[in-house]
Amino acid sequence: MIDAVNIRKDFSILNTTVYGKPLIYLDNAATAQKPECVIQTIDELYRTCNANIHRGVHFLSEQCTEKYEQSREKVRQFINAEKKSEIIFTSGTTGSINMVAASFGERFVSEGDEIIISEMEHHSNIVPWQLLCERKNAVIKVIPFDDKGVLRIDLLDSLITERTKIIALTHASNVLGTVNPIKEIITKAHLHNIPVLVDGAQAVPHGNVDVCDLDCDFYVFSGHKLYAPTGIGILYGKEKLLEQMPPYQGGGDMISTVTFEKTAYAQLPLKFEAGTLNFIDAIALGVAIDYINKTGRQNILNYENKLLDYATKRLASVEGLKIYGEASEKVAIVSFLLKNIHHLDTGMILDKQGIAVRTGTLCTEPLLTHFSKTGLVRASFAFYNTFDEIDALCEALEKISLMFK
Ligand code: PMP
Repeated sequence: MIDAVNIRKDFSILNTTVYGKPLIYLDNAATAQKPECVIQTIDELYRTCNANIHRGVHFLSEQCTEKYEQSREKVRQFINAEKKSEIIFTSGTTGSINMVAASFGERFVSEGDEIIISEMEHHSNIVPWQLLCERKNAVIKVIPFDDKGVLRIDLLDSLITERTKIIALTHASNVLGTVNPIKEIITKAHLHNIPVLVDGAQAVPHGNVDVCDLDCDFYVFSGHKLYAPTGIGILYGKEKLLEQMPPYQGGGDMISTVTFEKTAYAQLPLKFEAGTLNFIDAIALGVAIDYINKTGRQNILNYENKLLDYATKRLASVEGLKIYGEASEKVAIVSFLLKNIHHLDTGMILDKQGIAVRTGTLCTEPLLTHFSKTGLVRASFAFYNTFDEIDALCEALEKISLMFK
């Protein structure tokens, strides 16, 4: 069982006051707060252990390298990848998707080929594929979703052709909260030998992810939404695909030998880790994973599901409030509009009450176009949020609703 009162002691930022009001932080889908152990790790590493990895034979360099590689192993276990060499440290979800689009695209995508994405993708899982398609003269096809925010996977068969080179889909929508039936989609795609990239940015923080069970070809996520620092993320890729893909960037650490005539690349995963990586934050990501494991991923999921149920019921009872995203399986994200009040007005008035929500396009303009909207308000929850905070949000919204009668 999650004891949010105790857990909140690990997140000192939650004691902050905003305009004299206690902070109610409901913008976890944008970035999550960091527990003390993660902050302390960064502080300690810079004070006691900072030295560049994979390079020196000296004591600190070896210590840092060992911690970095231990963190890679923690990530491997966390998502149940088969091999450590399949875990590549990147700058985040965006960095990982750009890496796959550029490298996989360079090797496997040609003029007239097709890439399937969905209507509910974050811009990070749209634009890198568009850039690739512009370079290669390839085409993007889109799986739509219905008005409840459920992906129309019944249409997938009609979108797949022999030119389909990859399917790139979000595991959980950062706006609708919808958890997509990724495993079913992957099984279908593999019948046609089409690899699948899964954007796990919003799924990894909210439950168990098992890349072997999913059988996905690529799985990507960001550390900062997983209680780890910014600037670090993961690309999981199946070894047999990564082996065939060219390096994304050239530089130190990704080579085995260099001459002016020819360079031989390092083995996986270093082939995709050019230059000095963000190794301190990579180590801190491992500490965040330890923290999540200690708290219990199932405990987190159960508690967040309760928060989601409560928030959905409470919000739906606010006069004039409409929720966008009513799939039966959701992560703890609720996007909404209140009457015809502009999303920015709602967000700014909530802010004055100390309540932090996200407003605007939420980096999903095509998704908003589906609903003919220019912006939404989003409340997104983490396991340190409380039922009292949801009450405070709803009471504030009720007042706003009265103000705009
Ligand atoms: N995909 C999804 C579903 C997201 O929610 C986000 C972050 N909002 C991203 C991709 C991009 O993540 P990052 O900015 O950490 O690279």
